[in-house]
Amino acid sequence: KAKRLGGNHYQLYKEEMNTLTPERLALENALHHALERNELELYYQPQIETKTGRIVGMEALIRWNHPEQGVISPGVFIPLAEETGLIIPIGEWVLETACRQNKSWQEAGAPKVRVAVNLSAAQFYQEEIVDKVKSVLETSGLAAECLELEITESIAMHSVDRVIETFRELHKVGIQVSMDDFGTGYSSLSYLKHFPIKRLKIDQSFIRGIPSRADDAAIASSIIVMAHSLGLQVLGEGVETEEQRQFLAERGCDEMQGYLFSKPVPAKQAEELLKKQTVVNN
Ligand code: C2E
Ligand code: MG
Ligand code: MG
Ligand code: MG
Repeated sequence: KAKRLGGNHYQLYKEEMNTLTPERLALENALHHALERNELELYYQPQIETKTGRIVGMEALIRWNHPEQGVISPGVFIPLAEETGLIIPIGEWVLETACRQNKSWQEAGAPKVRVAVNLSAAQFYQEEIVDKVKSVLETSGLAAECLELEITESIAMHSVDRVIETFRELHKVGIQVSMDDFGTGYSSLSYLKHFPIKRLKIDQSFIRGIPSRADDAAIASSIIVMAHSLGLQVLGEGVETEEQRQFLAERGCDEMQGYLFSKPVPAKQAEELLKKQTVVNN
């Protein structure tokens, strides 16, 4: 099933990654050992509530500390992991680590926030995904409302009936689901109303053009209006400037995330940000 969902459906592969170059094979081989060699690390990026300026969530973003090549970004190795099936064990590690981390921040006296975890298609469409998530919550002791799963719009639109079913089950457990990179896929708006999701994340490609590009500004504004009329919250991704923040705030965008507030940071630093509940530009 995962195989069928791979390939070009999601445009997840960079073209050059499909060719069997020696570099690619070496990277793939190294990725096989990355987990057991402890080379994977989660960074966390604050999600800010517009009204209060407080951190209400932390998105977990994976990094690969490659012994020779240094830090490799997920844009490079997640497609490789998806292609090789390694995304399943890696994705499980991400989920477990993020939940455990959030619990340990709470135990260290930090304010309660959600931790957001990105799911790949193959992971999300696993038969046993809901059970797996439940069991991670149990093991980590994290409350369901402190976990959010991010699924891209294109993943959600691939197999709508399955998705609605899975979203319903997650919703029953109390887990929040948000739709990532919203506006870049091909959402059928009529399906959107059936999805029991919590929020839409406006893709950063639209935020980037604010305020100078009228089309991007119009799209972002419309997404906010539409989301609110469907009872969904909205988060603006990739907010880098004060102008962008202000534009989104004036239009009632509920939350924001981006370099203006903080880059993704290692777990320890994320804990300090949470404890201070002030975010410095870095
Ligand atoms: P995403 O989930 O849409 O994450 C947002 C990306 O935008 C992150 O890139 C983040 O570092 C970057 N970003 C945040 N604020 C700004 C900003 O103000 N300006 C700019 N230019 N960029 C900003 P990153 O960490 O390289 O991750 C890229 C993508 O890789 C993610 O996109 C997500 O789709 C995927 N990814 C990351 N971690 C995981 C994971 O654990 N599992 C899976 N399946 N995918 C992951
Ligand atoms: Mg995301
Ligand atoms: Mg995104
Ligand atoms: Mg993305």
